Amino acid sequence: MTTTRPAIENVMREERIFPPPPEFAARAHIKSMEEYKRLYQESIEQPEAFWARMAEELHWFERWQQVLKWEEPHAQWFLGGKINACYNCVDRHADGPNAEKVAFRWEGEPGDRRDLTYRQLKTEVSRFANVLKSLGLQRGDRVAIYMPLVPELAIAMLACARLGLTHTVIFGGFSADAIRERVNDAKARAVITADGGWRRGQIVPLKANVDTALADGACPTVEKVVVYRRCENAIAWQEGRDIWWHEAVASVSDDCPAVPLDSEHPLYILYTSGSTGKPKGVLHTTAGYLLGVTITTKYVFDLHPEDIYWCTADVGWVTGHSYVVYGPLANAATVVMYEGAPQHPDFGRWWSIVERHRVTILYTAPTAIRTFIRQGEQWPAKYDLSSLRLLGTVGEPINPEAWMWYHRVIGGGRCPVVDTWWQTETGMIMITPLPGAIPQKPGSATLPFFGVSPKVVNREGQPLGPNEGGFLVIDRPWPAMLRTLYGDDERYRQQYWSQIPHVYFTGDGARYDEDGYFWLMGRIDDVVNVSGHRLGTAEIESTLVSHPAVAEAAVIGRPDEVTGEALVAFVTVKSGFTKSDALRKELAEYVAERIGRFARPQEIRFADALPKTRSGKIMRRLLRKVATNDPELGDTTTLEDFSVLARLHEEEE
Ligand code: ATP
Ligand code: MG
Repeated sequence: MTTTRPAIENVMREERIFPPPPEFAARAHIKSMEEYKRLYQESIEQPEAFWARMAEELHWFERWQQVLKWEEPHAQWFLGGKINACYNCVDRHADGPNAEKVAFRWEGEPGDRRDLTYRQLKTEVSRFANVLKSLGLQRGDRVAIYMPLVPELAIAMLACARLGLTHTVIFGGFSADAIRERVNDAKARAVITADGGWRRGQIVPLKANVDTALADGACPTVEKVVVYRRCENAIAWQEGRDIWWHEAVASVSDDCPAVPLDSEHPLYILYTSGSTGKPKGVLHTTAGYLLGVTITTKYVFDLHPEDIYWCTADVGWVTGHSYVVYGPLANAATVVMYEGAPQHPDFGRWWSIVERHRVTILYTAPTAIRTFIRQGEQWPAKYDLSSLRLLGTVGEPINPEAWMWYHRVIGGGRCPVVDTWWQTETGMIMITPLPGAIPQKPGSATLPFFGVSPKVVNREGQPLGPNEGGFLVIDRPWPAMLRTLYGDDERYRQQYWSQIPHVYFTGDGARYDEDGYFWLMGRIDDVVNVSGHRLGTAEIESTLVSHPAVAEAAVIGRPDEVTGEALVAFVTVKSGFTKSDALRKELAEYVAERIGRFARPQEIRFADALPKTRSGKIMRRLLRKVATNDPELGDTTTLEDFSVLARLHEEEE
């Protein structure tokens, strides 16, 4: 029994429920709730037997001797095994029945296109691996990759994996400062980049950014820079350091066997999005990670051989690592890849890609969905989206109204929506519907994936009851979990294993309902305390977004003498609505009616856009500073567009 209020109060009511369509369930890998429950139970009661059976889906050079060695907070999976992620993603398809199957169906922003079969992918990867070898790079060395979204980005990653080099991909939208910081933190010996990449009809000067990052010996570990030619724009050249990709691959053989590696060999380092502070260098290793992403791709996206699969994430984020490259390729999928911006040449671009390539599975982020909502239904309405059979979302809580729009307008009311909760650190999807088995409720990530044991607890680590908001933790290791923060094991312990003893601390607030469904309530850092009510921002934002005029909303707390904190809501309106005092009042009342007077925003500010990370997440920590006129902004290297902040400041005046 709880006498005090829960850590985060539950204010959202959502009654709608969408069972899997019978036709979908009939041919799904997991066909019913009973089947899900049976497998889930097995995965929790006999985790080692379960994961060992799943691991049979991978190719091993040598079988493991021990499934799990757990010395909190360090896990080792499949000890004694020898495996190669690249071999699993490429060779076993290229040397088998899928050789002529398309691995990447790529489209450049200007409209150029390329299909790469698994056989061709193996040739390209082998050649580039030979180039890396010729540079003297050795197993365990780190290689930074800063490229546009072209197949060569995946080829570079896979070539690293083939040799046991540890890649660290830096999103192509990052500036020189962000590159320098990451390259130095990872102590990369080489950087792989391109002359440029296309974005909104402009060339992103990737090579020039690398030059700036490396200038004046600022990155002393870097010996070589390999440059892929994409835009043929003029670039500076440093003899002895810089190498053209196309020249280097021309003079090497296409035979380069994949190296058998220990299960725990470091596969990659990836820096988190930086929504809450300085990015963390998350380290993932080979076997457990590969297994986690392989089986989540298969079951969460219900992947079948004929699917045309499109995850719109940039490969610079974990979603791109797990669900553009490693997961889908390990399953021999055909993966659509699009280089550019969704509004180029107009907001119909994505839907024209779906139509032309007959995309069947689409996986994207709430920020993209809200952008399309704001632009209006006329864009998707122009295209034939009937090939779609499954939709997915990741990155932030999806507001129920955005879920409904996605389901109705993009999915034609017929496609299940998988709202997948996970993190850079978790490596794989953790809480999600299985689309043929688990009924969906808009705004809920629903139930845990096999082998995943999430709990909602209070500060003391005690489990909470249904609908009591608290801290989301994971109370047992899973194969794709991060192994440490690169070069900073102490921070790894502090950040994830010390806040509440003996569990992995996600940093997110959540509750589960009477059906055991998980509802993400926002980040713990963003919980607002108004007159003793601790409120998750996600739920108040979702209420605002359910108003017909609102496209996006971000809610933060500002110190207040009377109530402790007062709510300030930043709101963008849909095209066709006007920002007015009347609308301001209406929105405040709207929240008060649906949640309660205590949740009535003290101030509503209209904005043209909200500050977001380059991965599209709302940066509430910056909005807090705007609302309190704090000039100290903290780490802003991951902020996408500085002008947004400047405009927010102006709008106060
Ligand atoms: P940083 O850790 O540097 O602050 P970040 O947490 O944004 O950045 P990611 O690992 O990219 O970096 O994002 C993971 C977070 O995204 C989760 O902890 C959660 O807050 C949010 N998230 C992802 N998917 C969902 C989802 N389906 N529902 C709700 N929240 C989600
Ligand atoms: Mg995080």
